[in-house]
Order: sequence, then structure tokens, then C-alpha cells
Amino acid sequence: MISWGCDIIMTKTISCNFTGKDCSWSAESTRNDDEELMSMVKEHVLAEHKEIELNSENIANIKSLIKVTKRFWWWG
Ligand SMILES: [Zn+2]
Repeated sequence: MISWGCDIIMTKTISCNFTGKDCSWSAESTRNDDEELMSMVKEHVLAEHKEIELNSENIANIKSLIKVTKRFWWWG
């Protein structure tokens, strides 16, 4: 019986470089889920970058910056 191992999972990440500010914030969705990521982005923008309007154009821009990465996921 296998009691440990590793999977390769796809995650989505976004860094706060869409603001043009010197900000090191980033977020990751291990569920590979755009909506989860965008809700984290919205929270961050509301807290730190109130000058950025979350209109549909900006949201589309931010979504285009989402990166898909492969990650090793150890379990067991
Ligand atoms: Zn930021």
C-alpha cells in the first residue's frame, strides 16, 4: 500500500504588477480557479490600491496576467 507520494498539480498565480507599483504581493490558487484568484485580487486592491478602479476593462487586464504553473505537490 502506498502511503506517500507526489502529484504534479496546476496552480494559477498572479503578482501585483498590474498596478505599476512597487508591491510584492502575489496570490496563488491551488484549485486552478480564476474566480478564487480574482476574489483575492479584489480584496488586495481594495485594501492597498484604492485608486485602481475594478471595472470590467481592468479586470480583463488583470485576468490576462494570470500565470499557470506546474507544481509538485507532496502528500503523505
Ligand atoms: Zn499590490
